[in-house]
Amino acid sequence: MERTLSIVKPDAVAKGALGEILRRFEADGLRIVALKLIRLTEEQARGFYAVHKSRPFYASLVKFMSSGPVVVSVLEGDDAIARNRRLMGATDPANAAPGTIRREFGSDIERNAVHGSDAVATARVEIPYFFNATEIQAPVEALAG
Ligand code: UDP
Ligand code: MG
Repeated sequence: MERTLSIVKPDAVAKGALGEILRRFEADGLRIVALKLIRLTEEQARGFYAVHKSRPFYASLVKFMSSGPVVVSVLEGDDAIARNRRLMGATDPANAAPGTIRREFGSDIERNAVHGSDAVATARVEIPYFFNATEIQAPVEALAG
Protein backbone atom coordinates (compact mmCIF):
# COMPACT_ATOMS: atom_id res chain seq x y z
CA MET A 1 0.00 0.00 0.00
CA GLU A 2 1.39 3.38 -1.05
CA ARG A 3 0.36 7.04 -0.70
CA THR A 4 0.91 9.93 -3.08
CA LEU A 5 0.18 13.66 -3.07
CA SER A 6 -2.07 14.95 -5.85
CA ILE A 7 -2.78 18.56 -6.75
CA VAL A 8 -5.52 19.57 -9.18
CA LYS A 9 -3.90 22.77 -10.40
CA PRO A 10 -5.59 26.20 -10.82
CA ASP A 11 -6.19 25.73 -14.57
CA ALA A 12 -8.13 22.48 -14.09
CA VAL A 13 -10.17 23.78 -11.13
CA ALA A 14 -11.03 26.96 -13.09
CA LYS A 15 -12.24 25.02 -16.14
CA GLY A 16 -14.51 22.80 -14.04
CA ALA A 17 -12.53 19.58 -14.45
CA LEU A 18 -12.18 18.86 -10.72
CA GLY A 19 -15.01 16.34 -10.44
CA GLU A 20 -13.93 14.40 -13.52
CA ILE A 21 -10.32 14.23 -12.34
CA LEU A 22 -11.27 12.97 -8.86
CA ARG A 23 -13.62 10.45 -10.51
CA ARG A 24 -10.74 9.07 -12.54
CA PHE A 25 -8.64 8.51 -9.42
CA GLU A 26 -11.44 6.51 -7.81
CA ALA A 27 -12.29 4.62 -11.00
CA ASP A 28 -8.66 3.47 -11.17
CA GLY A 29 -8.82 2.12 -7.62
CA LEU A 30 -7.12 4.97 -5.81
CA ARG A 31 -8.73 5.86 -2.49
CA ILE A 32 -8.95 9.54 -1.50
CA VAL A 33 -7.79 9.57 2.14
CA ALA A 34 -7.38 13.36 2.53
CA LEU A 35 -8.74 16.29 0.51
CA LYS A 36 -8.97 20.08 0.61
CA LEU A 37 -9.51 23.10 -1.63
CA ILE A 38 -7.07 25.89 -0.87
CA ARG A 39 -5.43 28.87 -2.52
CA LEU A 40 -1.65 28.73 -2.24
CA THR A 41 0.26 31.85 -1.31
CA GLU A 42 3.28 32.55 -3.50
CA GLU A 43 5.38 31.58 -0.48
CA GLN A 44 3.68 28.17 -0.26
CA ALA A 45 4.07 27.59 -3.99
CA ARG A 46 7.76 28.58 -3.85
CA GLY A 47 8.32 26.14 -1.00
CA PHE A 48 6.47 23.28 -2.66
CA TYR A 49 8.47 23.64 -5.88
CA ALA A 50 11.77 24.58 -4.20
CA VAL A 51 13.50 21.68 -5.98
CA HIS A 52 12.96 23.63 -9.22
CA LYS A 53 14.12 27.02 -7.92
CA SER A 54 17.06 27.35 -10.32
CA ARG A 55 14.98 26.42 -13.38
CA PRO A 56 13.94 29.15 -15.85
CA PHE A 57 10.24 28.29 -15.43
CA TYR A 58 10.21 28.59 -11.63
CA ALA A 59 8.96 32.19 -11.23
CA SER A 60 6.17 31.69 -13.73
CA LEU A 61 5.21 28.34 -12.18
CA VAL A 62 4.95 29.94 -8.72
CA LYS A 63 2.69 32.69 -10.10
CA PHE A 64 0.50 30.14 -11.85
CA MET A 65 0.19 27.81 -8.85
CA SER A 66 -0.92 30.69 -6.62
CA SER A 67 -3.27 32.23 -9.23
CA GLY A 68 -6.41 30.46 -8.03
CA PRO A 69 -7.74 27.62 -5.90
CA VAL A 70 -6.21 24.16 -6.09
CA VAL A 71 -7.40 20.84 -4.68
CA VAL A 72 -4.78 18.90 -2.78
CA SER A 73 -5.40 15.28 -1.89
CA VAL A 74 -3.70 12.15 -0.65
CA LEU A 75 -4.36 9.09 -2.80
CA GLU A 76 -3.80 5.62 -1.41
CA GLY A 77 -3.56 2.25 -3.11
CA ASP A 78 -1.24 -0.41 -4.47
CA ASP A 79 1.44 1.31 -6.53
CA ALA A 80 -0.37 4.64 -6.00
CA ILE A 81 2.55 6.84 -7.09
CA ALA A 82 3.14 5.20 -10.48
CA ARG A 83 -0.57 4.60 -10.99
CA ASN A 84 -1.34 8.30 -10.52
CA ARG A 85 1.55 9.30 -12.82
CA ARG A 86 0.11 7.00 -15.50
CA LEU A 87 -3.33 8.59 -15.16
CA MET A 88 -1.72 12.07 -15.35
CA GLY A 89 0.40 11.49 -18.46
CA ALA A 90 3.61 13.25 -19.51
CA THR A 91 4.50 16.71 -18.14
CA ASP A 92 3.82 18.41 -21.48
CA PRO A 93 0.18 17.77 -22.45
CA ALA A 94 1.25 17.74 -26.11
CA ASN A 95 3.38 14.66 -25.37
CA ALA A 96 0.91 13.00 -22.97
CA ALA A 97 -0.82 9.83 -24.17
CA PRO A 98 -4.42 10.10 -25.39
CA GLY A 99 -6.90 9.61 -22.57
CA THR A 100 -4.57 10.90 -19.84
CA ILE A 101 -5.59 13.79 -17.60
CA ARG A 102 -2.91 16.14 -18.90
CA ARG A 103 -3.72 15.36 -22.53
CA GLU A 104 -7.42 16.02 -21.98
CA PHE A 105 -7.32 18.94 -19.56
CA GLY A 106 -3.84 20.50 -19.75
CA SER A 107 -3.13 23.60 -21.86
CA ASP A 108 0.67 23.72 -22.04
CA ILE A 109 3.76 22.46 -20.23
CA GLU A 110 3.12 24.83 -17.30
CA ARG A 111 -0.68 24.71 -17.13
CA ASN A 112 -0.86 20.93 -17.14
CA ALA A 113 -3.84 20.31 -14.86
CA VAL A 114 -2.33 18.08 -12.18
CA HIS A 115 0.65 17.36 -9.95
CA GLY A 116 1.59 13.94 -8.59
CA SER A 117 4.48 12.86 -6.39
CA ASP A 118 7.20 11.12 -8.44
CA ALA A 119 8.70 8.75 -5.84
CA VAL A 120 8.14 7.40 -2.32
CA ALA A 121 10.72 9.80 -0.90
CA THR A 122 8.99 12.75 -2.61
CA ALA A 123 5.55 11.73 -1.35
CA ARG A 124 6.93 11.56 2.20
CA VAL A 125 7.87 15.23 1.94
CA GLU A 126 4.91 16.46 -0.14
CA ILE A 127 2.07 14.89 1.89
CA PRO A 128 3.00 16.57 5.21
CA TYR A 129 3.54 19.86 3.33
CA PHE A 130 -0.28 20.07 3.16
CA PHE A 131 -1.74 17.59 5.65
CA ASN A 132 -1.36 16.82 9.35
CA ALA A 133 -1.56 13.18 10.43
CA THR A 134 -5.03 13.85 11.88
CA GLU A 135 -6.31 14.99 8.46
CA ILE A 136 -5.47 11.68 6.74
CA GLN A 137 -7.78 8.69 7.08
CA ALA A 138 -6.32 5.39 8.24
CA PRO A 139 -6.08 2.57 5.66
CA VAL A 140 -9.16 0.46 5.19
CA GLU A 141 -8.19 -3.13 6.03
CA ALA A 142 -11.41 -4.65 4.78
CA LEU A 143 -14.78 -3.36 3.64
CA ALA A 144 -17.55 -3.82 6.18
CA GLY A 145 -20.05 -6.52 5.32
N1 UDP B 1 7.00 23.08 -15.75
C1 UDP B 1 7.04 24.20 -16.57
N2 UDP B 1 7.94 24.24 -17.62
C2 UDP B 1 8.78 23.20 -17.88
C3 UDP B 1 8.74 22.06 -17.05
C4 UDP B 1 7.84 22.04 -16.00
O1 UDP B 1 6.30 25.16 -16.35
O2 UDP B 1 9.57 23.28 -18.83
C5 UDP B 1 6.05 23.05 -14.63
C6 UDP B 1 4.86 22.10 -14.87
O3 UDP B 1 3.69 22.68 -14.28
C7 UDP B 1 5.31 20.86 -14.15
C8 UDP B 1 6.05 21.44 -12.95
O4 UDP B 1 6.71 22.58 -13.47
O5 UDP B 1 4.22 20.02 -13.78
C9 UDP B 1 7.05 20.52 -12.29
O6 UDP B 1 7.94 20.04 -13.28
P1 UDP B 1 8.40 18.52 -13.30
O7 UDP B 1 9.54 18.41 -14.25
O8 UDP B 1 8.62 18.04 -11.90
O9 UDP B 1 7.15 17.77 -13.98
P2 UDP B 1 6.03 16.81 -13.34
O10 UDP B 1 6.69 15.98 -12.27
O11 UDP B 1 4.94 17.69 -12.79
O12 UDP B 1 5.54 15.98 -14.49
MG1 MG C 1 7.85 16.54 -10.66
